[in-house]
Amino acid sequence: MIIIMQTQAAPDQVQAVEDEIIRIGMKPFMNPGVERKVIAVLGAIDAKKADLVEHFYSFPGVERVDLISHLWKLASREYHPQDSVIDASGVLVGGVQAVVVAGPCSVESEAQIIDIAFKVKESGATMLRGGAFKPRTSPYAFQGLGEEGLKMLAKAREETGLPIVTEVMDTTDVDLIAEYADVMQIGTRNMQNYSLLKKVGSIRKPVLLKRGLGCKIRDLLMSAEYIISEGNQDVILCERGITTFEDATRNTTDINAIPVLKLWTHLPIMLDPSHATGDWRYVGSVAKAAIAAGADGVLLEVHQDPRHALSDGPQSLRPEQFTELMGQLRRVAEAVDRTI
Ligand code: PEP
Ligand code: MN
Repeated sequence: MIIIMQTQAAPDQVQAVEDEIIRIGMKPFMNPGVERKVIAVLGAIDAKKADLVEHFYSFPGVERVDLISHLWKLASREYHPQDSVIDASGVLVGGVQAVVVAGPCSVESEAQIIDIAFKVKESGATMLRGGAFKPRTSPYAFQGLGEEGLKMLAKAREETGLPIVTEVMDTTDVDLIAEYADVMQIGTRNMQNYSLLKKVGSIRKPVLLKRGLGCKIRDLLMSAEYIISEGNQDVILCERGITTFEDATRNTTDINAIPVLKLWTHLPIMLDPSHATGDWRYVGSVAKAAIAAGADGVLLEVHQDPRHALSDGPQSLRPEQFTELMGQLRRVAEAVDRTI
């Protein structure tokens, strides 16, 4: 439920509504981005809905009381009709410019990450990606360089100015990763790790939330709601392919997710064609499809020497392929009134 106050509502009228929400055992949540006060009423209101709508209409200064049709409230378009634009250390995600986050799957060495950072920047990437804590299917596979990897990412940022996106897998690592990262990535396997979602929700740092392998679009939004309801509104959603019966590609890109999410939420939406396809030969086509479909950006794995990459080599572009793709993405973006 949302309570929309009159534009001229006095602060004590807004306060009275908030106090009443708390008195009846609910949680008020104020939309900070708009001039008119919009208060979301959070909590289990199902049975009391009709009575509550009437009750709050009687408060002075209240213009309208609306029900939000979806289970996600703060992530919904009804609560926040305008697109959210998230400031990731100066790079705006969700605005006219679509963002390109590029870099290796994993940070492998300082020389590697700095070299690739310069290369992707030169071709127009706006952020650098690289995992230091890696969720690997096999416990025997390369697990990432940990804090050393974070330091290398920080060095690459210092040298290139590119903000960094890196994954956090565990609640106990959130504070450490938040010290280094500009955007904290929650990977597909952790999309429904509710303790982790609550923890990243409690700090002030943008979160890139990737869709779970077997999760619905609705589940993705409920996970975003966990983060926002803890106080962190800076959530960027990411479609990265889902598991289906199709085995010609590593995962199946759900391109539909982009227009559906655009309708259901104000949060920015990115797409990761590298993990969605698992094969560098398909990455370019799907990246172009994503921008054409209205994605706010793409996440691309780029490696100097994919054959010797410590993770995800088969889906990584070489720097020259990335450069060529960037030229094509710019033209696609222009066709849909965006820039890259
Ligand atoms: C990654 O970005 O390298 C990664 C592991 O992504 P996902 O969680 O989507 O598999
Ligand atoms: Mn990867």
